[in-house]
Formats: sequence, C-alpha cells, structure tokens
Amino acid sequence: MATKSQIVILGAGFGGLHAAITIGKQLRRYKLDDKYEVILVDRNDFQTYTPTLYEAATTSKETANYLDLKSIITIPVQTAIKGLPVNFIKGEITKLDLMNGDIHLAREDQEEQIRYEYLLLALGAETNYFNIKGLKENSLPLKTFYDSIKIRDRVLELFAEKPHIKIVIGGGGSTGVELAGEIRQWLGELKKELSPQCNAAVSIVDAGPRILGPFSERISRKATKRLTKLGVEIVNNSHIAKVQPQLATLEDGKEIPFDLLVWTGGVKSSSLMETMPLKTEPKGRVVVENEMNCLPQTPDLKLYGKVYGIGDAICFMNPKTGKAMPGVARAAISQATIAAKNIIGEILERENKATRVKRYIFRPMDYPYVIPIGGKYAIAKIGPILISGFLGWFIKGLVELNYLLSIMPLEQAIKTWFKGLRIFIKNDRLG
Ligand SMILES: Cc1cc2nc3c(=O)[nH]c(=O)nc-3n(C[C@H](O)[C@H](O)[C@H](O)COP(=O)(O)OP(=O)(O)OC[C@H]3O[C@@H](n4cnc5c(N)ncnc54)[C@H](O)[C@@H]3O)c2cc1C
Repeated sequence: MATKSQIVILGAGFGGLHAAITIGKQLRRYKLDDKYEVILVDRNDFQTYTPTLYEAATTSKETANYLDLKSIITIPVQTAIKGLPVNFIKGEITKLDLMNGDIHLAREDQEEQIRYEYLLLALGAETNYFNIKGLKENSLPLKTFYDSIKIRDRVLELFAEKPHIKIVIGGGGSTGVELAGEIRQWLGELKKELSPQCNAAVSIVDAGPRILGPFSERISRKATKRLTKLGVEIVNNSHIAKVQPQLATLEDGKEIPFDLLVWTGGVKSSSLMETMPLKTEPKGRVVVENEMNCLPQTPDLKLYGKVYGIGDAICFMNPKTGKAMPGVARAAISQATIAAKNIIGEILERENKATRVKRYIFRPMDYPYVIPIGGKYAIAKIGPILISGFLGWFIKGLVELNYLLSIMPLEQAIKTWFKGLRIFIKNDRLG
C-alpha cells in the first residue's frame, strides 16, 4: 500500500526522464518528498540517445563491442535520478485504467498494478509500417539500441556471405538519410578491410518528390548532393506497396530487390495511447492543451486524477502553423518542463505552499537541428543560420555533450562523451 501520493511518469525517454528529474528536484526543494514521490516506469533501465543510433548501426565490432556502444548510446536511468525522490520501476506497461487510476505492468513475468494521483504519459512513438503488406516481417527498423545492433550484425553477416549486397533504406527522412550516408561510408571501409571482391550498393527509396520532405528545399538539395557524392542512390516518388523476402514492390509495379531493407519511413504514437479515453484529433492522435494536460474523450467522462502528456506520444497543434509539432527530442524536453512545473504548481497549491500558482504554457519554437550525412559532415540549422560540413559535425558533438551534462554528473558526462568521440572518430571516415 502506497503511503505517499504518487506522481507516475510512464516512459523514461527524453521527455519522461527530464520531467522526473525536474519534479524530483522541486519535491526536495519544497521538502515535500516525505509526502510525494515520483514513480518512473520504463521497459528499459536506460534512456536511448537516439541521435547517435545510426553510428551504432555502422560501427565495426573491432572498433567497439556491444558493451562499449551501449555505454555511450544509452544513459542509465539510475544515474540520472540518483539522490532524487524518484523510484524507477523496470517493467512493460500493458494497460492503463484512467477512470480508476490504475496502471498495469508486467514486471519480471509478474503482473503488477500501481496507482497514481498525477499521471504523465511520455511513452514516445513506435515504428509505423502503414499496414504495408510484409513490411514489418521483411525489414529492420531503427528505433532502439537493439535495432541498431541488429542492423550492424546483419550487414556484417551479409558481407561475409555474399559478393554483391544491396541495402535499401525505406524512407528518406532524417533517420534514413543519416543511416544511408554512414552505411555507405562504412561499406567502403569494410570492402577495403575485409572483402575487396564484395560490392555493395545503398539506396534510399522515398515516397515523396524529394528526401527530407518536411525540411526546406535548400536542405534537401544539400543532402541529396552529399549523398550522391558518397554513392547513395536516391529513388524518389516511389511508394513501397508490398514487401516479400528480398523484394519490395512499388505501387506502380516496379520491383526493388534487396538483401537488407531498413524501414525508416515513419513513426506513430505508442499504441497504448489509442486505448485511452482521451481527446484525440481527426487522425486519432491524443491531443494536449498548451499546459500539456490531456482532456477526457467526451466532456462527461471523469478521469481519475490529473493526466498530462508530452513528446512523441501526443499531438500538440502549433497554433501558429495549425500543424502538429514534429517529434523531436528538444520539443519533448520543453514539454516535460511545462508539465513538470504545472504538476508541482498544483501540489504547492494543495499543500498551501504557494499563494498564487502560475500556470505554465508550452510555446513551440523552431528547434535547431543537425543532420549528419556520412563521416565528419553534418548539416546544422540554428535559427536562420545553415552550416554544413565539418563545422556541422562539430556542432553535433557539442549538442551531445550539452545533453549528457544535463542528465549526468559532470565527470561521468565528460567521460562518456570522450569515449563516444574516440569511438566515432575511429568510426567516421573523413570526407
Ligand atoms: C534513429 C532516430 C534518430 C533521431 N534523431 C533525433 C535527433 O537528432 N534530434 C532530435 O531532436 N530527435 C531525434 N529523434 C527523435 C527523438 O528521439 C524523439 O523525438 C524523442 O525520443 C521523443 O521523446 P519522448 O520522451 O517522447 O519519447 P522516447 O524518448 O521515445 O521515450 C519513450 C520511452 O517510453 C518507453 N516505453 C514505451 N512504451 C512502453 C511500454 N509499453 N512499457 C514500458 N516502457 C515503454 C520506451 O522504452 C522509451 O524509453 C530521433 C529518433 C530516432 C528513432
């Protein structure tokens, strides 16, 4: 039986972990940690730093083994929450009962239930296969650390097995572009080192008229030029309609053979989100208000406690553009700050620790981004400034360091960053 009031955060990704740290610090600051506690739940006891997943997928075993890669691409949750009134539970969330305040978990093969008073949904997204026949069964995604290791192992197996290999990346968004550029570079190295007689081709197949569709035309042109220089074939306006083992068929009937298909064509909110009695937009995604609170599906429904949602799991309509915010780490972190401050505000009010409680509002912005494309080259956009080449790659490194410093003790952050730098410098081919 819980004696403290529980603030339950589901998902320890970019958004959930940041919210847990923020709320934990505030509970301690206001000496409320004897009455309230944060329960953070995730299926993994680590957070994945997704921007470097493409590097893990293209790092030879000689350069870094599994444990080395895990130590630089994932961040242990316990390290990030150390000393805070946050309890971490490793478990698979199987069901949510928002009418009665119960969360169902599968934990070490045992069913378990936890209760909440405040709930923050930070479950992220999952790969979207768009119901394309055979796609899930015959492709590999790039969403988790384990996915990246599977891709790496499959490429190495193919190299050992066949004289000609064809790798197709389905989807020319930033993940597909990053992976294609780096894989192309890596294959060149493998050819020299392991198998000079092996020929490898890499292509991106994208349904849109250009790669990086949501980005500006200028960025798309730059990326196309870079990928072409590296030897990546780009096949635009090509909608994959069906996939069989080693064969993708386009809508127009054209067939694309492959040895490995990596599907980076899209993500959708965690499927658990669809099961909740929450207000959705016409495409069925759970929408949140600008205070990051969720609303019941119909006004007459009474949800248990206060429910908030952040990050890739939810849809936030940008009032300026009328479009849904893109799923990026920076947005999940900003939304986590807003949700955390509002939850703390409500607790302070309830505990008579504040006279006037301010409500915080999420204001979307044009977040900076970096798209690495093979070796020490990246396109970085910061406000109106567009930087490409080595400087872009350098900025990517600084972004990583900045994130590690925000989540780990100084010494550990610097150690982890240097370890990653050492491995990825060896890994990155100049050019
Ligand atoms: C390959 C790749 C590269 C990317 N690169 C960038 C980049 O360069 N810059 C950028 O800004 N964004 C990037 N992104 C997007 C970024 O990772 C997401 O926008 C961000 O992770 C969203 O944060 P979140 O907290 O909403 O979800 P996540 O970080 O995905 O966290 C969700 C968490 O919920 C857990 N979870 C989900 N379901 C369950 C369940 N049923 N039971 C238990 N636990 C569960 C997951 O394990 C996960 O830890 C990239 C994404 C990918 C896949």
